[in-house]
Amino acid sequence: MPMTIPEIMRCLLVTKRADGAIERAVVTQPTSELPGGEVIVRVRYSALNYKDALAATGHPGVVSRFPHVPGVDAAGEVAESTSPRFKAGDDVIVTSFELGAGRWGGYAEFIRVPAEWVVPLRPGLSVRDSMILGTAGLTAAMCLEAIERQGIGPGDGEVVVTGASGGVGTMAVSILAQAGYRVVAVTRKRAVAELLKRLGASDVVGREAVSDTSGKPLLKAQWKAAIDTVGGNALSTVLRSMQPSGCVAACGLVGGVELPLTVYPFILRGVTLAGIDSAHYPAEKRPALWQKLAGLWKPKLLEEISTEVALENLEPKIADILAGRTIGRILVKI
Ligand code: NDP
Repeated sequence: MPMTIPEIMRCLLVTKRADGAIERAVVTQPTSELPGGEVIVRVRYSALNYKDALAATGHPGVVSRFPHVPGVDAAGEVAESTSPRFKAGDDVIVTSFELGAGRWGGYAEFIRVPAEWVVPLRPGLSVRDSMILGTAGLTAAMCLEAIERQGIGPGDGEVVVTGASGGVGTMAVSILAQAGYRVVAVTRKRAVAELLKRLGASDVVGREAVSDTSGKPLLKAQWKAAIDTVGGNALSTVLRSMQPSGCVAACGLVGGVELPLTVYPFILRGVTLAGIDSAHYPAEKRPALWQKLAGLWKPKLLEEISTEVALENLEPKIADILAGRTIGRILVKI
């Protein structure tokens, strides 16, 4: 039985005033404002990703049209579907593509999306768990997939993870450990060392490990692979510290968008730089990756590495994530 879709829904709406100032508030909006698509989902949980904080502050790199509803992650049950692939009541996950960026996202009681964006919830994951993972889990899994595509396996050497206490970072540490890798976690927060070890890191080091400013084109070869969520000089240091035939999966920019580097890591050590773009990860490949996230690669300690907040209480967390102060995942209850 299709769910009755109410005429209005609660959502976090971001607006731009005539003077250019960005404002946001939890308000009600007509559900008729939802964009087109075959599937309407009653959202139960979303999450706060770094990109959502950019959207909530009206960053032009993420949001081009106002008013806007952020939330690149959403999970809940199908309320209505004109696609034969889904029926009302199915538990589903929707992450990235244009959700919460080019179109209204998961910080709302309802989303409407193209059917190809929708992934059925896998056995082994609850709706809530799926949003503790969310885009961060999918991105970390994509990074590991890219590393393994280079023929690198658990016995080949250590894998370093930068920004390890963050959303993607905690997921990456745990997924790598579950898959059998020796993980070196780099964090600026000494206090989370014990948590990172329980997640599976064999070693936890400070950010100095990836903060080289010597300008040397190559550094001591230390790691076989890397998942970099920070970018900038951290990514440059990691690339210059790779062992021969190593692979760096780069997904983040919290530490900067410049990449001070020479070509030497590539032509003298055969290092691969794998760019990760979760937004455009093909729809047909997503169910298999979610399957791994629900099974073999399922991160540990999901409750401990997540903090649940109601949509109405999200405001302070937006500033926290932009300042790199959050730990793990922020789960948003809708
Ligand atoms: P979080 O804020 O949860 O994690 C980022 C972590 O990086 C922080 O917790 C902190 O970890 C570290 N950090 C923060 N600021 C700085 C800084 N100035 N210098 C060095 N380290 C810093 O964010 P997410 O996990 O949601 O996202 C991480 C990055 O990955 C973002 O840039 C995001 O845009 C990107 N991303 C990209 C995706 C893609 O498809 N390419 C998908 C998802 C995310 P610590 O204190 O432990 O060092």
